[in-house]
Amino acid sequence: MLALRGIHKRYRMGNEVIRALHDVSLTIEDGDFVAIMGPSGSGKSTLMHVMGLLDVPDDGSFRIDGREVSRLSEDELAVLRRKAIGFIFQQFNLLPRTSALENVSMPLIYSEGKLDLERARGLLERVGLGDRQRHQSNEMSGGQQQRVAIARALVNRPRLILADEPTGNLDSSSEREILGILKELNAAGITIVIVTHEPEIAQQARRIIRMRDGAIVSDERLQPLPRGGAGRPTEGWTGAAKPTAAWKNLVQHFQQGIRTLAANKVRTGLSILGILIGVAAVVAMMALGRGAQKAIEDQLASLGSNLLIVRAGAHRGAGGVVGEAGALATLSIDDARVIRERIPGVRETSAAVRGRGQVAYLNRNRATTVLGASAVYARMHADLPTVGRFFADEEDRRRARVAVVGATLVREVLGGRNPIGETIKINKIGFQVIGVLPEKGANAFHDQDDRVIIPVQTAMRRVFGKDNVDFIEVEVSSPDQTSEVETRTRELLLSSHKVPPSQRETAFDIRNMAEIQAALTASTRVMTLLLSIIAAISLLVGGIGIMNIMLVSVTERTREIGLRKAVGARRRDILSQFLVEAVVISLIGGVCGIALAWVISMALSFFAGWTTSISPGSVLVAFFFSAGIGVAFGLYPARQASRLPPIDALRYE
Ligand code: ADP
Ligand code: MG
Repeated sequence: MLALRGIHKRYRMGNEVIRALHDVSLTIEDGDFVAIMGPSGSGKSTLMHVMGLLDVPDDGSFRIDGREVSRLSEDELAVLRRKAIGFIFQQFNLLPRTSALENVSMPLIYSEGKLDLERARGLLERVGLGDRQRHQSNEMSGGQQQRVAIARALVNRPRLILADEPTGNLDSSSEREILGILKELNAAGITIVIVTHEPEIAQQARRIIRMRDGAIVSDERLQPLPRGGAGRPTEGWTGAAKPTAAWKNLVQHFQQGIRTLAANKVRTGLSILGILIGVAAVVAMMALGRGAQKAIEDQLASLGSNLLIVRAGAHRGAGGVVGEAGALATLSIDDARVIRERIPGVRETSAAVRGRGQVAYLNRNRATTVLGASAVYARMHADLPTVGRFFADEEDRRRARVAVVGATLVREVLGGRNPIGETIKINKIGFQVIGVLPEKGANAFHDQDDRVIIPVQTAMRRVFGKDNVDFIEVEVSSPDQTSEVETRTRELLLSSHKVPPSQRETAFDIRNMAEIQAALTASTRVMTLLLSIIAAISLLVGGIGIMNIMLVSVTERTREIGLRKAVGARRRDILSQFLVEAVVISLIGGVCGIALAWVISMALSFFAGWTTSISPGSVLVAFFFSAGIGVAFGLYPARQASRLPPIDALRYE
């Protein structure tokens, strides 16, 4: 059955070359029961690995049923391994956190494309573990684990069982049981090769081979070969695997992947968490940024396009003659009036000052935006109060202490009740509340309802102590007159303020809504970019988290891969199984992350009142980035491990 001729295997340890096998020639007949003995380090395991197709020799010829093994492709080797050979390891090598039944039937995934639990059950009964099917490897004694491993070796009905010191880690009663099982199997026609240190065990074999320093030193027959042997050549082992339909394979790998994920809950949970956090952070962050941008756009849209904003020149007091420049560049209530009266095409003007102020009511107070404006402001900005009224021109003229408050102030300072008629203090000055402004909403950066509007002249004289206004808003009757009105306004202001020619360009800053919109859009773009960078960093951190979890499990997984290959998995079986696992983890993590981001942004809009908007783009980017990292780092170690000879993967530290 097996014929080895001149087999060499060398290991290099630094400068030293260890000859683990040196010119070994050996024939093993069908039906034989061979014991291999020899001191530790004499090459017994190496020989077993070569015979079990788990390792490749450096030199020599190895034939199984007359066919040269070194000419077989990797896939053909895998098929041969699972059809003809059952390997039993000294360390059992069961899959952790997996039941006895699943351990035994695992090789069937690769040979038959399904878990045949009935067959596994029968084998467990045969090795005396009928009552331990559901137990996991760590819940069984060494002897029981080795019996599970024997059942696993038998599940593909091999012709040859290779057992490398199967009782080396066991007590003597377990040893007797294991030996009994192996003898029974041999009686049933299976060829057995066993490595042992125990002369009593060796004496029960039909043939004893002794090794020393990588070579065979004696070969002694104790009992004759059974008559006729069990000479049944393994059918079709040189062919590829049975042509299982691709989708059927995929279903198998999917089920197997889910089973592995379920068996390693902590590892799975952490990987999912990594992806979840990455995706959720990015999506929520981008939703905030977009929400802010949208809010600004909505606000601009409600202002209309026929508004001009006039400010005093940008570089007031900077350079030139300070006194002169300061005197030039100021705006007054009068300027607003003159613009309205003298320039055709102007419907309304509103002078305004803006500043911070402390609003107090009973024992509560809050810093807020105080806007001093003309009576027409409410109509120009669609800010007509929902409750109560706005102030009138006459109240502005006599500097009345009346205030229209935003919704946030009503909630935070006025205790949520109807505030009309109540007296509040603004910077310690008493004001009567006459109206509540309509709600405009908030985003992460700015609450548009955190404000109070008072008459502009009251604000200038009583609250801020200013002689000038900060800006004048000019409403043009129809949008096509905008540029003409802009030019005329500039001319008028330049001549009435007697601006010298050198400063004509910079004395006043007049902008229309299109320009303001462009400026605001640019600034929100910067803000969104900033958020995106933060989001990208969190995504990166999430990615590193996923990577770590995937890499941490490499040792364990490399051994698992070694084992799966040892029982006959081809490289593509391993890869598709790991791919399925990585994809499942990434999918679950990604979907949960998106859901979490949605919950977060809902919570922010609900509790903090911020506008948020989840963009499909950020969802896609976050999802594919995390999933990509999950798949890449899940698959990379698997790919590396699947390239090793099975025994190297099994030995991986
Ligand atoms: P035995 O099973 O008889 O105790 P082995 O076949 O395990 O011996 O080892 C034979 C020799 O090869 C020993 O000297 C051992 O140190 C060496 N050897 C085995 N495996 C490796 C390896 N992966 N790398 C380097 N040396 C090895
Ligand atoms: Mg050994």
